[in-house]
Amino acid sequence: MDTKQHILIIGAGLCGSLLGLRMVQRGYKVTIVEKRPDPRQVHQDAGRSINLAFSDRGMKGIKLVGLEDAVRTLCIPMNGRMIHDPKGNTFFSPYSGRTDEYINSISRSDLNLMLLNEADKFDDLTIHFNLGCKEVDLENATATFKEYTTGDIQTFSGDIVLGTDGAGSSLRKSMYLSKKFLFSFSQEYLGHGYKELSIPPTEGGGYRTEKNALHIWPRGRDMIIALPNLDGSFTVTLFLDYEDAPDSFASLNSPEAITEYFTRQFPDAVAMMPNLIQEFQENPTGPLGTIKCSPWHSFGKTCILGDAAHAIVPFYGQGMNASFEDVVVFDAVLEKYQGDWETVFKEYEKARKKDTDAIADLAVDNFHEMKEHTANPLFQEKRKLETAFEKEYPNEYYSKYSLVTFNEDIGYREAMLRGRAQDKAILSLLSEGALSDDLSLKAKLEKIQQETNDILHDD
Ligand code: FAD
Repeated sequence: MDTKQHILIIGAGLCGSLLGLRMVQRGYKVTIVEKRPDPRQVHQDAGRSINLAFSDRGMKGIKLVGLEDAVRTLCIPMNGRMIHDPKGNTFFSPYSGRTDEYINSISRSDLNLMLLNEADKFDDLTIHFNLGCKEVDLENATATFKEYTTGDIQTFSGDIVLGTDGAGSSLRKSMYLSKKFLFSFSQEYLGHGYKELSIPPTEGGGYRTEKNALHIWPRGRDMIIALPNLDGSFTVTLFLDYEDAPDSFASLNSPEAITEYFTRQFPDAVAMMPNLIQEFQENPTGPLGTIKCSPWHSFGKTCILGDAAHAIVPFYGQGMNASFEDVVVFDAVLEKYQGDWETVFKEYEKARKKDTDAIADLAVDNFHEMKEHTANPLFQEKRKLETAFEKEYPNEYYSKYSLVTFNEDIGYREAMLRGRAQDKAILSLLSEGALSDDLSLKAKLEKIQQETNDILHDD
């Protein structure tokens, strides 16, 4: 193999910076071109998720490039969900009965910077900023960029072009516009949008509420969540209808309306949010959508990864994790078929698409679960039972959440099929009263396993 083949990567976000680093580690010459300014020179308030839930599938990607220990220093473990009811009572629900299974809160910009700095150490990798891709010549692996301050047009070529330019991918658009092959594309938006707010640290720099939890205020139609930051603050995200609902971004159009809504719905959170009105009015409202498309590649010259290929709603905390897992899968396929890019791209999509379709669907399911079901007594009973199974029988039981989030040895699709069947089994046995207290925990587990297998075989 000519190890000095040149890879052009569009987009230096989370996926692009990890991918670039891995490709240069493999011995390729890499150029990454990014639309935004260099984050090391210009502080950017991205207007989008400041912190993210980072878990095992994402860590697989980080391990691949040898940054596990460094990334751990950026992580705050979140052991479970802290549910806040409308009266301010809290209820903690662990993510797993196994103590080594938890997720982490991590700063998007710190993680991105760490990856960029590591990539920049290689002489064979160059990063250009302030250049937004306008179009890609798919057959010739050549991309045209516009410099935002001067308006100058620049062209970059590679042996191949990889698009990691996020949900609005320019490479995907060029694939779509190309009339030379069929391209399937779907884009579905929720009627809800999101807005980021904050809970600042205490005066002494401490946390105003439990640090090691993902906080949720589920209110049926809408909710807020909060994830901790290293400086003692929490980033709060409101998920709310855009319009046409009793409460919506359209109806919260004055300080009075904002105060009335938050005090009614989230009284204990409001008490910790001194900058609520200003942040609500100044911070942008973002859309929440799912993008699926196929094929992810063209002419054996270009391929898309990360959100460019599969943007998902954030309710499973898996978009970045899935994008990092993409790099792991891509790397494994490359190992097998290196030298033949067309086969690499085809095999990569074949191995990966079923899983990214599954996490896209699971993420929409979790939207409903988080805002509606986490406060439901049946759901809470189910979670208690699952936690007990995982504690007592750690090698025999994995909840759907554990299968998706912690069981990195199986793909998202397998996790979805097994997890959904298991959920159906537990909820129907619980509502039929078939898991009464006189049964031992083991007997309950066996009943659920039997019912789950029946459901899986019927499907
Ligand atoms: P991006 O992060 O979008 O990066 C794309 C990069 O390409 C950017 O740097 C962009 O500037 C650049 N770019 C775009 N267009 C061009 C162009 N034309 N030319 C050159 N460069 C370009 N995921 C999780 O795993 N856990 C979470 O808890 C989580 N929470 C989320 C919360 C919210 C509110 C949102 C919106 C998303 C969340 N995600 C989460 C998803 C996660 O943010 C994405 O899946 C992840 O950022 C995808 O990485 P990416 O590199 O593919 O895309």
